Amino acid sequence: MRFNCVGCGDCCRGRHGFMSLTLAETAAWLRRGHRVAVLLEAFPATGEQEEGPGLQLPVDYGVEVRSGGMGLRIAPVFGADLQAGCPNLADDNACRIYDDRPAVCRLYPAQTHPLSVFRKDTRACPPEAWDPPAGVILVEEDGRMPPGIQTMVEAFQGELGRDAAAKVAICEALGVHLAGWRGDGIVIHLPAVQDFLDAIAKVGARTGEPAPMSWAVRVAGAELEAELADADARLGASGDSVAHVFIPVGTNSTDVRAG
Ligand code: SF4
Ligand code: SF4
Repeated sequence: MRFNCVGCGDCCRGRHGFMSLTLAETAAWLRRGHRVAVLLEAFPATGEQEEGPGLQLPVDYGVEVRSGGMGLRIAPVFGADLQAGCPNLADDNACRIYDDRPAVCRLYPAQTHPLSVFRKDTRACPPEAWDPPAGVILVEEDGRMPPGIQTMVEAFQGELGRDAAAKVAICEALGVHLAGWRGDGIVIHLPAVQDFLDAIAKVGARTGEPAPMSWAVRVAGAELEAELADADARLGASGDSVAHVFIPVGTNSTDVRAG
């Protein structure tokens, strides 16, 4: 699949939701006064992994934490809050931080999420951007990215992996220790900008290891809740964390709680 950016700007104008950031990008985004969300899913520390295209989790994926008597892994995602559109998009559709824009923006429309498969229909690019004779190759015939793009995506994913332990420590410094369960639901926390910056500074200035924190898991399914209770996991309650939204998988419903 060949691609040629036609400069329409739809990827910026149409980008909503949350955009994954490295830790350095998170700090820069916050310093500009913009909000970053924390998206959290937990999964078993050991044992079976999920199956399905692009969903095979590497054995050491995520950071190991305790939840009551159970070991979990957490893969923290810090996501720029683009729910109301990108705050860096100027009226003339130019990017105000073009030289410092996040890696996901630089790599668009390539697939940057390690657990997702590229799908053209999820991209904002217009038809004329796809398969022009002189465009760059974005996806090879075997479904892989060409080596140059692959290297950049791997560098981004590598940085996310190296950041993961610090991100979990920052969550804990924020008072965020509630996650969804992969495949059941996701918990999205929305810290205030200054609280987030303070937590990053606090973790950066730390000299020793803090006391381990017990994480809680919030689930939608009764069967899963019973399984996790049997495994002695700590199940989430409204007082467990700062303000968050819980989004069960397969629904569009949200449940906003003040914390
Ligand atoms: S940061 Fe810039 S390039 Fe990225 S979505 Fe916003 S306006 Fe577009
Ligand atoms: S939507 Fe696609 S074609 Fe349009 S500016 Fe963004 S990357 Fe380029």
